[in-house]
Amino acid sequence: MADSSKANTSPSDGNTPAMRQYHAFKKQHPQCVLFFRMGDFYEMFFDDALLAHRVLGITLTSRTEGVPMAGVPFHAVEGYLRRMIQAGHRVAVCEQMEDAALAKGVVKREVTRVITPGTLTDEALLEEGKENPLAAITFHPGDDGPAVSIAWAELSTGSFTLTTINVEEIADELARIHPRELLYVESADGQPPTRIRNLVERVGCAATGRPGWHFRQREAAEILRQQFQVASLAGFGLDDDDPVLGPASAIIHYLLETQRTPGTSSSQSSRRIAHLQPPKRFTRTDHLIIDQTSLRSLEVEQTLRSGGTEGSLLGVLQDCTTPMGKRLLRQWLCYPLAKQSLIEERQRVVATLVEDERFLTDLRQALETVQDVERILGRIAVGRATPRDLVALGSSVKPASKIAELLADRPSVRGYYGRVASVSGPLVRLTELIATACIDSPPHHMREGGLIRDGYDAQLDEYRVLQRDSHTWLAGYQKQLIEATGISSLKVGFNKVFGYYIELIASNRDKAPPEWSRKQTLKNAERFITPDLKDFEGKVLSAEQRAIAREGELFFGLCTKTADHLTELQSFAAVVAELDVLVCFARRARRYRYVKPAITNEPVLSIRAGRHPVLDELLGDRFVPNDVELGSGSDSASRIPNGSEESSSLNTSSLSSARWHSLALITGPNMAGKSTYIRQTALITLLAQTGSFVPAEEATIGLCDRIFTRIGASDELHAGQSTFMVEMTETSNICHHASPRSLVILDEIGRGTSTLDGLSLAWAITEHLASRSCRTLFATHYHELTALAERLPNVTNLHVTVREWQDQIVFLHRIAAGSTDRSYGIHVAKIAGLPRTVVDRANEVLGQLSISHSAPQVVPSPANPYQAAHSPDSQRKDAQLSLFTEYLDHPVIEDLRKIDVNHLSPLEAFERLRKFIERVQNGA
Ligand code: ADP
Repeated sequence: MADSSKANTSPSDGNTPAMRQYHAFKKQHPQCVLFFRMGDFYEMFFDDALLAHRVLGITLTSRTEGVPMAGVPFHAVEGYLRRMIQAGHRVAVCEQMEDAALAKGVVKREVTRVITPGTLTDEALLEEGKENPLAAITFHPGDDGPAVSIAWAELSTGSFTLTTINVEEIADELARIHPRELLYVESADGQPPTRIRNLVERVGCAATGRPGWHFRQREAAEILRQQFQVASLAGFGLDDDDPVLGPASAIIHYLLETQRTPGTSSSQSSRRIAHLQPPKRFTRTDHLIIDQTSLRSLEVEQTLRSGGTEGSLLGVLQDCTTPMGKRLLRQWLCYPLAKQSLIEERQRVVATLVEDERFLTDLRQALETVQDVERILGRIAVGRATPRDLVALGSSVKPASKIAELLADRPSVRGYYGRVASVSGPLVRLTELIATACIDSPPHHMREGGLIRDGYDAQLDEYRVLQRDSHTWLAGYQKQLIEATGISSLKVGFNKVFGYYIELIASNRDKAPPEWSRKQTLKNAERFITPDLKDFEGKVLSAEQRAIAREGELFFGLCTKTADHLTELQSFAAVVAELDVLVCFARRARRYRYVKPAITNEPVLSIRAGRHPVLDELLGDRFVPNDVELGSGSDSASRIPNGSEESSSLNTSSLSSARWHSLALITGPNMAGKSTYIRQTALITLLAQTGSFVPAEEATIGLCDRIFTRIGASDELHAGQSTFMVEMTETSNICHHASPRSLVILDEIGRGTSTLDGLSLAWAITEHLASRSCRTLFATHYHELTALAERLPNVTNLHVTVREWQDQIVFLHRIAAGSTDRSYGIHVAKIAGLPRTVVDRANEVLGQLSISHSAPQVVPSPANPYQAAHSPDSQRKDAQLSLFTEYLDHPVIEDLRKIDVNHLSPLEAFERLRKFIERVQNGA
């Protein structure tokens, strides 16, 4: 604490040497909270102190008048750092670089770490199963309008990915990347632009403005070439003028700036982030795209209710044993594949594992010993590895040869075998090296040594022998002194502050020979030192320090040797992660009777006895499986039962025709299982495209390009938008972007407006989606919609069966063909505990209203030739009762009907059209 007391002696805070140093570092890191080491504390001053008081809850004091100060003890700093970072702040840690007691003048200090939310590497600051990406973005013109380039890197593992997308896809993409920190081009006023603010708010990450030149195209290619030490970027599939290089270069600048290791003074231009992997380009069309809304409403990563992983798809599936596998599983669920061959490749491995239980168990066991190789490598690369990291890495790569052995001679895993076998030789040698050098239970840090085994290094052994022999020497010396002085109570001892001493009890004080020098006087004893003892002390203490220094050198050497195997280790980590996820799929398939889905390029969806992956686990045998039949060539009526066991009035006329259906309307009371059914269909499709088996007895999944959902659960109010507005915005997105290869899941549409408006919208949206032929499941309360199955050939009706029994209803949760016209809303309200009087009154009102369930008579839209072509003639004739009467009254319609196009020349046709338009515009 010598230094801090020095600082305190000055009357003016700004002028003490330490404070001048503080201000200089703060100026270099204006965006960071500066943790300034002073003796046993990290101190924060001024605004940083106020912030620390608020965020960390630590006491605010003042250094000199008007200078707020707050401090945290050095041994507990990691916890405080974590909280600062979690709160979205950046921290610069300024260390004392010399012993304060020995310092001449102000203690030398350096900023040794800049920690930001997106550049974490320390185990204590990271979540094991979650990535922690840093992203950078630029906006620029693209081929199809405004575009965005995004680069994202994971410093803890070295992954680096680039993409360019349309500007409207940015929110979805960032939601999937889930960056912890977003770099953007800073503006003159120092404030993030509105669109960045909005994005950051939606994604929930920190935003960091960076100088424009960091993103500049001109220098970007050079920065990347230097980082990856290549002459050209062509090998990475990148041109020098690719706009994605801008954010990629900003990432590299930022990593170099934050990852300064102590004592580095070399210019930034010659430095590189050793473990950063060459950039991979992410192409959206390679993946099944699930937008942000759908990821949330399908509860893929977290549940809507608690926001936690438990109860989500990831939560129930998560059974990976390695941290790399855990992170990869999340990625696979958020980025399912869109290519049949790649999906089938994964399926083949899962199938082999499912069929061969011994293989599955042995592989899982081999993987269990692998720790977080990716992140340990990251820490080795940035110079922040601990002795435990090194030993963990050694034991983690040990099973490489065992894994290779297990994979050998199995055709379905040949690719994986090749990847492991090619690296297992050097990795096993690395394991041996680490095991020979390091003890099995290493210390947390290298401050006091204790990592390297005896016998590994001759020089270290020599220092250690000196230390150990000291006990023998001291015992002998003590004996010799007792004999010489005749003082039997004499002791030779050691303490950390005063070093070695000879101690006499107070009554013997005067018996000390004159050549002994007095060292310390205690109440009951006097301590002395002799030249011999002083000499010995020098030797022992220097041996101890030298041993620690030597261990440091050896540790550094081992880390360097490990870093020489960076590529092999990264490749091993990648293959382990994939195998871990595939083993997880196989274990689940075995335990919960999942089957391998057939993958096809046809736009079909056929599931026999499908189950909801989460509810299935929760309810076990009580879960009622259901079928799905959608898509061209399928015949839904032939597969889905007709629900004869229920008592509600059924319109089963759609059963009579065997047609293909792309859209199914699902009716049935609340709580019957509609949402579960449509969600499970989306989840089964998603799972199938990750390569996993699926919870069903049989499934054929036609590859989907996108999954869209419009599900009531995300009805929470978005910044100033009404529920109805959110619903319509989401539906509009679906109407615009759903292709014939998409899967659309709709749960109630139009509830937020009047019944007539809602029904009209739901009707028109159904027609629109039916005309697009995208596979659609639409759960609705509007029984009127079921009439569409009569009008449009690819629309079918399904309903959830219910049994009435003694004035009660029993939900059978079984999906059956046909529609139902009973809502049982009052029954459900009764179950929900509505007062008896209210329920009775509602029944009374219901009787009086005698609501008609007859289908509305809607004319086909003149704007949609699909509906016109498919609408039965009968419907056209009784168009008088249309909801959309404005089309009917117009005389142009009548004249149009009279035209016989077969007897019109193109010119005449054009002329008539022109006149019609004129009449419509003039209101004639
Ligand atoms: P709806 O959308 O028709 O209101 P939900 O799909 O939300 O109904 O289902 C309500 C509840 O019924 C679920 O929480 C679940 O407990 C149960 N349930 C739904 N489907 C099934 C099923 N197939 N098997 C067993 N229970 C089911």
